[in-house]
Amino acid sequence: MTIEIRRVMVLGTGVLGSQIAFQSAFHGFDVTAYDISDEALAGARDRIAKLAATYRDEVPGAGDGKAEQTEAGIVLTADLAAAVQDADLVIEAVPEVLAIKEQTYRQLGKLAPERTIFATNSSTLLPSDIKDFTGRPDKFLALHFANLVWKFNTAEVMGTPDTDPQVYQAVVDFAAAIGMVPIELHREKAGYVLNSLLVPLLNAAMALSAGGYAEPEAVDKTWRIGTGAPVGPFQMLDIIGLTTPYNILANGDEDAQRLAAWLKTTYLDKGKLGIATGEGFYRYSA
Ligand code: NAD
Repeated sequence: MTIEIRRVMVLGTGVLGSQIAFQSAFHGFDVTAYDISDEALAGARDRIAKLAATYRDEVPGAGDGKAEQTEAGIVLTADLAAAVQDADLVIEAVPEVLAIKEQTYRQLGKLAPERTIFATNSSTLLPSDIKDFTGRPDKFLALHFANLVWKFNTAEVMGTPDTDPQVYQAVVDFAAAIGMVPIELHREKAGYVLNSLLVPLLNAAMALSAGGYAEPEAVDKTWRIGTGAPVGPFQMLDIIGLTTPYNILANGDEDAQRLAAWLKTTYLDKGKLGIATGEGFYRYSA
């Protein structure tokens, strides 16, 4: 029996949820997006309108009214029961707090039709941390997007030992159908593939500069010339923004905390937070 996914419910319409909703609707899926209050939904409406403009400018095929049509087609609601009543797939993007995930899935598990698949977009929790709250561990897995989904279009798919292989395959197929490149993980791994590679690279780069071995420019130049990559690790950090890496390092071991202190005194305290503030490791003109 093949599992058909047509109707998608996006749970949480923040930074990532609004992008996932837009990308899914843009590729022809019926999308309902839920958030907790009318205030949160007003924010969603704004984000979705901005996404329509971005897609028009950046995504092939989004002209001739397609972006506006996509925007108009997304149903927004603060009624969880109504939002999920017809959903084949729920993609959850609520805040990265285990207690919020637990409360969300306990409620959702009771309201959703039996067939509905649940996918979490969590970046740092493993699906095994969440599966027991869902009431349907065989229909639960992680589907992890990267910020700016239309451009950085990987979708990492990671199940638990309980995930039904047919459910896993259906979600891989869905990811491809909305223009993502599905990245299949066979076992659970904190950081999935991308962050398992990226975080050690960024930390090694910072250790080189914080330790006085080489300037950020020299580190980036080495990486670009030595590997053919278009940007170096400090350029990537400026794109990501320095606050998130700082928060992660500040909660880490002694070495990590030394890097956090260096980031803070040399950059954060001076308002150098990356491209968003016009300066990070590099200076950017408006
Ligand atoms: P966000 O804070 O921008 O959005 C979260 C949304 O969830 C808000 O609109 C909030 O109102 C809503 N929400 C729904 N139910 C809620 C509840 N019970 N309590 C509180 N809020 C509720 O967060 P985000 O950055 O979009 O991240 C969401 C998820 O996506 C997280 O699991 C995060 O790890 C993951 N993620 C984020 C990024 C990123 O770059 N921001 C990238 C990949 C994955």
